[in-house]
Amino acid sequence: MSAQADQTSETTKTTETHEFQAEVSRVLQLMVRSVYSESEIFLRELISNAADASDRLRYAALTDASLIDGDGDYTITLTIDAAADTLSIADRGIGMSREDLISNLGTLARSGTAAFAEQMTGDAAKDVSLIGQFGVGFYAAFIVSDDVQVISRKAGSDEAWSWRSDGQSDFRIDTAERDSRGTTVILHVRDEDKEYLEPQRLRHIVTTYSDHIGLPIQLVEITEGEDPSAETINAASALWTRSKSDISDEQYTEFYHHVAHAMDAPAHVLHYKAEGTIEYTALLYIPGEPPFDLFDPNRKPRVKLYVKRVFITDDTGELIPGYLRFLRGVIDSEDLPLNISREMLQNSQVAMRISKAVTGRVLAELEKTADKDPETYAGIWENFGAVLKEGIYEDAERRDALLKLARFRSAKQDGWLSLADYVAAMKDDQKAIYYVSAPDLATARRSPHLEGFVSRDVDVLLLSDPVDDFWLQMVFDYEGVALKSVTRGGSDLSDLGDAKSEEDLPEAVPEGDLDILIVALKEHLGEHVKDVRSTDRLTDSPVCLVADDSDMDINLQRILQQHNQLDAAMPRILELNPRHAVIRSLVDKANGKNGLDAVADAAHLLLDQARILEGEAPLDPTSFSARLSRLIAD
Ligand code: ADP
Repeated sequence: MSAQADQTSETTKTTETHEFQAEVSRVLQLMVRSVYSESEIFLRELISNAADASDRLRYAALTDASLIDGDGDYTITLTIDAAADTLSIADRGIGMSREDLISNLGTLARSGTAAFAEQMTGDAAKDVSLIGQFGVGFYAAFIVSDDVQVISRKAGSDEAWSWRSDGQSDFRIDTAERDSRGTTVILHVRDEDKEYLEPQRLRHIVTTYSDHIGLPIQLVEITEGEDPSAETINAASALWTRSKSDISDEQYTEFYHHVAHAMDAPAHVLHYKAEGTIEYTALLYIPGEPPFDLFDPNRKPRVKLYVKRVFITDDTGELIPGYLRFLRGVIDSEDLPLNISREMLQNSQVAMRISKAVTGRVLAELEKTADKDPETYAGIWENFGAVLKEGIYEDAERRDALLKLARFRSAKQDGWLSLADYVAAMKDDQKAIYYVSAPDLATARRSPHLEGFVSRDVDVLLLSDPVDDFWLQMVFDYEGVALKSVTRGGSDLSDLGDAKSEEDLPEAVPEGDLDILIVALKEHLGEHVKDVRSTDRLTDSPVCLVADDSDMDINLQRILQQHNQLDAAMPRILELNPRHAVIRSLVDKANGKNGLDAVADAAHLLLDQARILEGEAPLDPTSFSARLSRLIAD
């Protein structure tokens, strides 16, 4: 294709001015200011859009060949016109109609994009990565230009339209002419950015960022008095089709930036070709940074599916399980039919087999990384552990493999611990893996329930992801060792030997005396507690709350309540530390002349105190405050 064939021109019949959506103006301003030092990324963004538009047409043409009318050339052309100070990026992709131009380039189309403006930090490197994540790539054109024109003709249509803006508050829509389908973005390059009119500079940027794109990228230089010459400046073979030994780390990273719309360095790359009953190539990345919408309930896996090098879809929930939704990259199948639709994908045996194979391979790769490079694995777990744990709950078949991969914080040890590590460090007489589940790590760590365990040198796993309470419903043991919550049921502590500091602890109140206090507390607290009893679980705190053995764990109740799936928390058991000075003094009071009435306020304050230690509010803040005031004034 010659440069001339691609020339476009604007006609000036029907100019219409449209305001940018308010968020767009804000994003434009912030972006141009904050990512200026990384200005060259504008070209990567525009070439990426051109390649995506070509992929989309190639796919659409599988079912409607008239869209390409026998012309399967998808070359992307960069044209430098030094006399006019313009750089244009032209593709032969799907193109945009007038309406497409207005909605795609005038609003922040993708949901969640408005949040972009709020998240800009002013740190160029971070903001650049946000640009990709939030899908505002096109606007990067304004980093080097304050006059951007887009001329586009949708495949299958004879009309072309022009969109033009200075990137301030509005854009103009005009009719235009374009010889063939596709889109041309023309940048009138600012004086201070003239480097982007130098062929050498563009060649360098394309090799750095866009070499892996499976379409030819041509560079055309228009010089007065000379015939324009076109030269292909990229390798033009899809990166995943090359052999591993021919791909450098930098190339892998650049491709990741392209497919993932990201700027971070990937934490891990998995590239392999499966041969045998099903044939496919996978190039998968575990991102170095978690995407901003990792926990968005509508978030779908975004690995791209290709069939024989043709892009099919990036809606790949059928191929990648939800708990691996952080993966990015490409799966290219040899066996699926080219015209596969999303619905067909759902019922396809081949897709199911690819999904199983990929899932198994990714988990095996994670296990290998955990063994060989624990530091990298710790980073991966830190970012995506909470997502992987969803698999323990959802994927019964892989449950054991995922439990092996799981890492935990613990009361006694620093860093991440596997269940195998925990079991290996168990005391001889210890029969269970103990854990506490709380709304966050800090609350878990200061949970009074840990005291008796820690003082006996028994470690407790600290769980603080909401998903923990769900998988714990399905998993009762790890390789035969029971998992047991320290906030539910009896404490087992008598089996675990004496507390290290037993001899330093004050003596316990005799059982008979304590019984009188227990009767008093039960009477005052009524239905607010299921029971009141003495415990050896505590060393420093006077009281704590536990769930009955047959009831739901406390943190799960809390989560279900937050999601309106449980009306009221079940009453819990209030446990007393018989060695604590407060309990001793209350025993004396309850035995004194005013009898049980003497501990009425204290009963409620003890319960509220236990609730506060759980990270909850007092049952009734007004009464709590009145009781506390009476106590202080006493
Ligand atoms: P993103 O590509 O992340 O969605 P952009 O701001 O880069 O965000 O582009 C917004 C939308 O404009 C794209 O989703 C696409 O629909 C459309 N678009 C951009 N460039 C082109 C192009 N060269 N050809 C066709 N459509 C395009």
